Amino acid sequence: VVPANAALIGGLIEACRQTIAANADHLSELDRAIGDGDHGTNMRRGSEAVYAERDRLVHLPMPKALEEIGLTLVMSIGGAAGPLYGTLLMEIGRQMAGDADFARVLERAIDAVARRGRASAGDKTLLDVLYPVHAEVVRRAGLAGIAEEAERAASLTFAMKAMRGRAAFLGERSIGHVDPGAKSCALLTAAICRFLEE
Ligand code: ADP
Ligand code: MG
Ligand code: MG
Repeated sequence: VVPANAALIGGLIEACRQTIAANADHLSELDRAIGDGDHGTNMRRGSEAVYAERDRLVHLPMPKALEEIGLTLVMSIGGAAGPLYGTLLMEIGRQMAGDADFARVLERAIDAVARRGRASAGDKTLLDVLYPVHAEVVRRAGLAGIAEEAERAASLTFAMKAMRGRAAFLGERSIGHVDPGAKSCALLTAAICRFLEE
């Protein structure tokens, strides 16, 4: 494995850890409004667990590293976000091993997340960021464009009624709040795009 790969994996892990650490309180605050208030804590636990394994992860080929990161997220996050982010990363890794077209890889991985959560677009979940991000990747929007679209998509969940997860118990009362999972997904997307742009 070439050193460039190690720097890339290490940099991505660090970028994600930083943005979650900086925004964990905000994410939990969003989750307090329509959930159980632990999304920031959950995501921080996950990102710290991955960070703790970085010395091992950076020596793996990218597909394998992503798969392992996904597995660590499933085991460490706890809560609904664990299996969802875990599936996303594991599936990107698996698909990447056999397909060089990242848009197609991402599409299959997002579909796996949707199946796992039995959720669709418009249900006020992280999928409402993932689908628009995929669309920007397909039209080759560029890293800045993708990051911007992710943030915009997360803010659009404000007006949505939650159909999945804890927030769905609130019904109409879930309207008027940004979905925490959508927000974490936008923050992570933006952090990854910023890192890749450098
Ligand atoms: P928990 O709800 O178990 O406390 P978190 O607070 O960590 O888990 O994560 C909540 C986020 O997970 C939600 O904001 C939403 O984006 C996402 N989510 C929850 N359930 C589903 C689902 N069935 N499908 C897709 N996303 C979901
Ligand atoms: Mg929660
Ligand atoms: Mg919880």
